[in-house]
Amino acid sequence: MRLFGIIGYPLSHSFSKPYFHNKFAKENITDAEYHVFPIENINDIKTIINKPELLGLSVTIPHKQAVIPFLDEVDETALKIGAVNCIKISHHNNKLHLKGFNTDCIGFEESLKPLLKPYHTQALILGTGGASKAVAYVLNKLNIEFLFVSRTKSADTITYDELNKESIAHNLLIVNTTPLGMYPKVNFAPLLPYQYLTEKHLLYDLIYNPAETEFLKQGKLYNATTYNGEKMLHLQAEAAWEIWND
Ligand code: NAP
Repeated sequence: MRLFGIIGYPLSHSFSKPYFHNKFAKENITDAEYHVFPIENINDIKTIINKPELLGLSVTIPHKQAVIPFLDEVDETALKIGAVNCIKISHHNNKLHLKGFNTDCIGFEESLKPLLKPYHTQALILGTGGASKAVAYVLNKLNIEFLFVSRTKSADTITYDELNKESIAHNLLIVNTTPLGMYPKVNFAPLLPYQYLTEKHLLYDLIYNPAETEFLKQGKLYNATTYNGEKMLHLQAEAAWEIWND
């Protein structure tokens, strides 16, 4: 039996286990299992990776950055992003080898590209956490200029109260990487002047539960195109599966 799994904390609402369970059943993959390993302290990864049948791990909050020192090798893109959400485990001459990848950026890029119009050349990234780094990497790659919007002012960020009619008109792509509006606190949304949105705006929310966040509802109200994080989630999982089976 080949074993795969996910590390993170908490994992009570993990999407990955049912996703891979369904995938294995649907595609008649009978030699694989996907387990959940809730670990609060990243040091506990050592107790998990020794299972000889374990070939791949997904990594989620809060370990995407902290896991890097435990790896033998990190793929170039993940290194640039500074976050790993997928680990391929192999055994060379009876020695364990852990290589880290970032598949969030693959999921984001592949889901975003079909939505882009030629005028989506400037973007706002809301939030400056782990996911925002994968988003920034992709926007850079696609030659889309961006500004980070944060609760804290710094050399690299603007704050929500600095947003006005002009900055909203200028940035026709807005990506929410904050957890605002995520289940169960569904009534929250980033503090934007939504009234300045137009039908040219594309609002992309990394959140997938609920399918339509308050952020996206506001976008719809002003005729913007809206998109949630579900496709990104599926694409990052499929990219991980390919890496583990490569
Ligand atoms: P994170 O590291 O906790 O970062 C989120 C950022 O949001 C923070 O750094 C913070 O930036 C901002 N933020 C946090 N709480 C806030 C609040 N109360 N009000 C305003 N801003 C707040 O989380 P993450 O790992 O980047 O993930 C962010 C979201 O993306 C989560 O909802 C996650 O589920 C989702 N996600 C989805 C996918 C997918 O495949 N669809 C993949 C990865 C992540 P500032 O301090 O700068 O304001």
